[in-house]
Amino acid sequence: MNTIIQNAAYCKICNEIVVSKERHDFETCNCTSISVDGGTYYVRRSVKDVNLYEELVLTVNSTFDEIINKLVWGTRGKEGNVKLHYFLIKSLDINHLQAILDNVKNIESLHEHVIKYWLNTKKDK
Ligand SMILES: [Zn+2]
Repeated sequence: MNTIIQNAAYCKICNEIVVSKERHDFETCNCTSISVDGGTYYVRRSVKDVNLYEELVLTVNSTFDEIINKLVWGTRGKEGNVKLHYFLIKSLDINHLQAILDNVKNIESLHEHVIKYWLNTKKDK
């Protein structure tokens, strides 16, 4: 049974979030400081400096707080024509969050849940 929900890390040098989706999906950030691997099977990291990256792995044992703060969203832009890029869902603005709910079919329930959480939280401010 897979217990990993998200296999990701954030590079503080180039500000890129890298995500490994599959078992042998080895992904490296733009400045090559960090690499992630393993998908939902295992968590493998190659890191040049442990102080310059932030761990974004989520498992079924992660707390609600960890999930709402670390879950990422991948996008290819409004027209779908730019390189796949990941953002923390919590960092997206209200318009973007609403657009995802309006336009993305077959959204995973966890992502939908977190998007709605941040939409409501940001609207209340
Ligand atoms: Zn980097």
